[in-house]
Amino acid sequence: METMNLPEKHWRHSADEVDRHWKYANQSPWAIRVGDISGRVGESQELDITLPAPSGIGDDFYGITADSDVDVTGHFDAIKDGLVFIGEATADVHGQCSRCLKDLSGPLSVNFTVFMPLKASTAEEDERLGRGTSAQKDVNVDEDEGEDVYPLLEDGMYADLESLLRDAFADAMPQTPLCQPDCKGLCPLDGVNLNDHPEHHHEQEGDERWSALAALKAQLEAKED
Ligand SMILES: [Zn+2]
Ligand SMILES: [Zn+2]
Repeated sequence: METMNLPEKHWRHSADEVDRHWKYANQSPWAIRVGDISGRVGESQELDITLPAPSGIGDDFYGITADSDVDVTGHFDAIKDGLVFIGEATADVHGQCSRCLKDLSGPLSVNFTVFMPLKASTAEEDERLGRGTSAQKDVNVDEDEGEDVYPLLEDGMYADLESLLRDAFADAMPQTPLCQPDCKGLCPLDGVNLNDHPEHHHEQEGDERWSALAALKAQLEAKED
């Protein structure tokens, strides 16, 4: 029997709750209000928004500057236990090739499909992951790193995209940023870019060897006489 036992409280809030939600939304710039569809299977909500980049994506050498703009588009689809969020985020990466220091700054886009369970279902999630349900009543979004699961907050009222954006972009950061897979880097002696000057090399070492050999040859020739 598929009678919807919808949690009606999701769209009937006391003044206290409204106030709490309002405060929450103002505390986190990444909190997206999804309360109108969470719990309503089959409903969708579009998202097209510019959010500040979370901190901790990459590093000074290659990364995304905290608070710079991230354009996020996508849609939330309500399913039985929560929402599915399918989206794309684009941000400007600052960075350099780790071998030749070429500027690699530019836009970077990431795609994601994540499950955002209602708070009530996190117990099932914990069970599935073998975490045990008793000690972990509180939802901790950070602990779901790598699971592609980001529980809704405030009884399904908000989806907080901070961890999702951080994880999605962090996953897209190359361990060794390169301008091209076979970047030749810089000459260690004088810093000449070997990609631009493939013929660049130094004779010095070879010259010394040859002159040493020439000296030896001259010595040997002198003995023979
Ligand atoms: Zn390079
Ligand atoms: Zn050189």
